[in-house]
Amino acid sequence: MEADSIRKKRDAEKELVGCMIRVYCHGNHKELWKAEGKRKDYLCTECKELSDYAAMRSEKCPHMETKTFCSCCKTHCYKPDMKQKIKEVMRYSGPRMLFHHPVLAVKHVIEEKKAKAKDKASAERGKTERVKSKD
Ligand SMILES: [Zn+2]
Repeated sequence: MEADSIRKKRDAEKELVGCMIRVYCHGNHKELWKAEGKRKDYLCTECKELSDYAAMRSEKCPHMETKTFCSCCKTHCYKPDMKQKIKEVMRYSGPRMLFHHPVLAVKHVIEEKKAKAKDKASAERGKTERVKSKD
């Protein structure tokens, strides 16, 4: 893949994750929004930290060329507490993304399906002792 398309992929991933964190923060930390009287793009301190961290991970991800999205990445490079948080964000925001960002969300679903299909195909081909991490 060319450097340019990797760049685009990185940016798309950062945008998607950023959107998901905003949706999550808006839904779960509303008291903070109210207390601070913030604008639409407000993120609480905790979510801001997660958002920055996620962007940094996307920026440094060595698998950008081959992987689809961070959530499909085999070597999940998030540190444990951030991993926990981002999972929560994905769980919450995933289904809601359809309303907020239909194009991005649909793209994400397609990419995940592709990744799963590919996984399945290679598993059937190889019949190797793949360790199934159940999470
Ligand atoms: Zn928040």
